[in-house]
Amino acid sequence: MIPYGRQTIDETDIDEVVKALKGAWITQGPSIEKFERHLAEYCGCKYAVAVSSGTSALHLACLAAGLRRGDEAITTPITFVGTANAIIYTGAKPVFADIDYNTVNINTNQIKKKIGKKTKAILPVHFAGLPCDMQEIANIAKKSRLIIIEDACHALGSEYKHGSKWVKVGSCMHSDMAVFSFHPVKSITTGEGGAVLTNRRDLYKKLLMLRHHGITKNSSQFSNRNSHSKGPWYYEMLDLGFNYRITDFQSALGISQLRKLDKFVERRREIVSIYSKELSGDDKLIMSEKPSHVKSSCHIYYIRIKDISNRKKIFNKLLKAGIGVQVHYIPVHLQPYYKENFKCREGSNPYAEQYYRETITLPLFPDMTDTEVKRVIKVLKKIL
Ligand SMILES: *Cc1c(COP(=O)(O)O)cnc(C)c1O
Repeated sequence: MIPYGRQTIDETDIDEVVKALKGAWITQGPSIEKFERHLAEYCGCKYAVAVSSGTSALHLACLAAGLRRGDEAITTPITFVGTANAIIYTGAKPVFADIDYNTVNINTNQIKKKIGKKTKAILPVHFAGLPCDMQEIANIAKKSRLIIIEDACHALGSEYKHGSKWVKVGSCMHSDMAVFSFHPVKSITTGEGGAVLTNRRDLYKKLLMLRHHGITKNSSQFSNRNSHSKGPWYYEMLDLGFNYRITDFQSALGISQLRKLDKFVERRREIVSIYSKELSGDDKLIMSEKPSHVKSSCHIYYIRIKDISNRKKIFNKLLKAGIGVQVHYIPVHLQPYYKENFKCREGSNPYAEQYYRETITLPLFPDMTDTEVKRVIKVLKKIL
């Protein structure tokens, strides 16, 4: 079975993890800050806070943004449930804005329509690695004084054009925070892991504290100015935080993986260009135009079946042939939990629902060989 995605771990990765395990720290060691520094540098952002998963990163970003009961945050239905769940964890309500049928990213006109008095944040998702229209989203957010949290879990290594310059997703040039995941199917892995990036020092400090139970040892943050707070043992819990820390040996793996990120992305792009070349013009598939001002990290490669009544049959035949296809994603607003608790209903995001009926994700990962890519194409063409 060719999986739809998988990690690439080599001997240097293993050596780095072993080194970290043999060191004095296995939880809160020096690799964490180093990983954060390298990640921030790679993206062209000031601060990075590494945490235990992409989901915990989203949760902390929502908390740092000040989301709470009574607030609303706008996101896309075509994402992993974790994006919208993070909004709910804070007590706020997720509101879904439909996708653009061509890019599958959140439609900026739909965002405008969903903004109300309670709206506090927008969470765009760079679906499959394709950057959203961040300049337009930043314009919208500025007008309504909203916070932007990019769910960039698909998009480590993606870039978009700003003027004549290319900027990396994660630079936070047009957002307050950006979130990454280091789950094994993503651009790089730390096993489980994630990070929040930001250029704002206030958010950075909040994120650090929330990652560690809401505790600070930084005397400039203390609320108690009495003399007993002068001892070196002293700490204060200023907010209700969590244990969302990442470990030192995971960070050691992250540092090692980050060195190979550009190679991974390059190989992903190569595979996608083979798929696109071989499948473009197939009259059984819906082709979408890719915008020219973006470079995708190519997190996933999906095809869209014109005759939706055939999607399931095609999917099953591919599985049977040993091709680990997937569907990304069942629209979040159609999940029973969302229907029950947020009165979400079928038909409310027609383009997302249409895309869902058409889509199949094909295997794509850096270690995939040309032979495997060709096998997928050959089998698919026969089945179509
Ligand atoms: C993977 C992913 C997440 C969650 O990340 P975890 O590290 O698995 O918690 C959230 N959003 C999107 C879009 C993702 O792809």
